[in-house]
Amino acid sequence: MTAEHPGDASGRSAWNQSSPRGIGLVAGTVITGSGSERAIEQVVDKGSWLAERASCVSGNRLLGADGAGPVRTQAREILLPRSAEEIADLVRSLPPDTPVGSVCGGHESSNAAAVASDSAVVLDMARLKSIDFHEESGRKLVTVGGGVVFRELVEAVRVRQGALPVGTGPGVGIVGYVVNGGLSGYFSRRLGLLGQRVTRLTMVTAAGEIRVLTPDDELFTAMLGAGSALGIVCDLTLDMESDSVVRGAEQRVVAFETRAQAVAFAREALRFQRDQVLPDEGMSMELVVAGTKTLVVTIVFYDSFRGSMAEFVAPLEALAARLELPIVASSHFGSWYETAAALWPVINAMKGNPLAMLQHCLGSEGAPTDAILDWVCDTVVAEAPLDEAPLSIVEIRTLGAAVMAMKPIPSGNCRHRFFLDLITHYDAKEKTVAERREIAAMTRSVIEKARGVEGLAVDFSGTHSQPDDPGANVSPSLIFGSEAMVELVRAQKKVVDPGNRFRFHPYAKFL
Ligand SMILES: Cc1cc2nc3c(=O)[nH]c(=O)nc-3n(C[C@H](O)[C@H](O)[C@H](O)COP(=O)(O)OP(=O)(O)OC[C@H]3O[C@@H](n4cnc5c(N)ncnc54)[C@H](O)[C@@H]3O)c2cc1C
Repeated sequence: MTAEHPGDASGRSAWNQSSPRGIGLVAGTVITGSGSERAIEQVVDKGSWLAERASCVSGNRLLGADGAGPVRTQAREILLPRSAEEIADLVRSLPPDTPVGSVCGGHESSNAAAVASDSAVVLDMARLKSIDFHEESGRKLVTVGGGVVFRELVEAVRVRQGALPVGTGPGVGIVGYVVNGGLSGYFSRRLGLLGQRVTRLTMVTAAGEIRVLTPDDELFTAMLGAGSALGIVCDLTLDMESDSVVRGAEQRVVAFETRAQAVAFAREALRFQRDQVLPDEGMSMELVVAGTKTLVVTIVFYDSFRGSMAEFVAPLEALAARLELPIVASSHFGSWYETAAALWPVINAMKGNPLAMLQHCLGSEGAPTDAILDWVCDTVVAEAPLDEAPLSIVEIRTLGAAVMAMKPIPSGNCRHRFFLDLITHYDAKEKTVAERREIAAMTRSVIEKARGVEGLAVDFSGTHSQPDDPGANVSPSLIFGSEAMVELVRAQKKVVDPGNRFRFHPYAKFL
């Protein structure tokens, strides 16, 4: 599409369609590895590749004089390997100082790996699509290849009557989610973080060595939250549960006209979340405040919940009635699968040319105080740029429970019971540079104010932070969960990647 601008993504008819069907590819790059020659597909049209593979563009890349133009990948080469052996051969055949990036589902908020640098080789993992079910010592396991995304895994697990703590985005990559500390607002309170369910992992080191890691290896733990800085994951094995762990879910969609109405609903709904949901490990609750002027409440009920799901949400229906806000949709999801797939149509409808995104996360380790809840309502719900960037959402969620009971991994998500994601989304073609700057400034203003709120942590994982925010403080111990985890990760980085070949990840400011 862009002969003059080979790496850009300006003409985005293909933007936001997540699987590479062949655009810009040619077979035949010859890689010399262990004495043999391998042909690895290479991307020739980098602009089409970026448009197709990066789900969105960092809002920070769209602000300056350059930001008015297209976003381009800088990568020297983009290759699509098919196996761990091909990846290992390739890494060994490159000069040892060549930086290497990996792209799985393409949803990382700063596009660090997809944009990379002009000396980098980027590996698009999209050809590693295997999903293999097996049993070991009575446990049901599934091994997924490095290019599998949530929609593919969820559909396959459904057939096996299994359940996993998956995220909401259908195109989010399993490996990209696990190695950066991903969490499931719906399922983690019962099933832990997905990284806590990994039992084995195959990776390639910076020296081009294939390693199969198990929980006995220190590197294994470090990979489950900082893996994008440590190696290239080729596959990982997950411990599944039966789908009977989820009884079902209730969802109510409440419409609002003014932001004051949204604040009033949130103020009481969040106290319900804290007082009725957080103390009970049999459920989770999410309140989404959307730029489409809707409040979406979803309560997921697990196997230990006794009682009527519909009756449990009745106080929230009464709240909407009292505030004279109409309930415009009521849904019951009867299974793990229906709940896991509930948001796919909504997320698929978020399109832009390009779609811009800024992503941040706030949360508390214990139950939130009244002061924190009031601040969330009066500042986040009231001041987030939901009108200026109408595809934006604020997701206010519960965590803790099983996550805290299972073995910690290097993710701040292990420590937080209450959290919210502020996800600023807009279609960049409809905004001038001045408008984009205003949206970014409004987002940052909320985040800066959050840093002053007692008991509130800011950006505590790689999956929900905006690592390219200029000048923002990042706290390694918040992001990896503790000082001990920071030390573990730093020690492993020195051993397995002393030359920092793996430098395109959310932790680049401090690793
Ligand atoms: C619509 C949407 C919904 C989301 N929903 C959730 C959610 O419910 N819960 C949640 O926690 N997060 C969620 N996220 C955030 C998402 O989990 C993170 O952005 C995640 O890191 C994206 O992974 P990816 O594979 O799609 O992206 P990528 O950009 O491909 O990868 C992300 C990072 O992982 C690295 N990486 C990719 N493949 C490999 C590999 N094989 N080996 C080593 N490193 C690799 C990349 O270099 C990059 O640094 C969502 C994001 C979006 C846009």
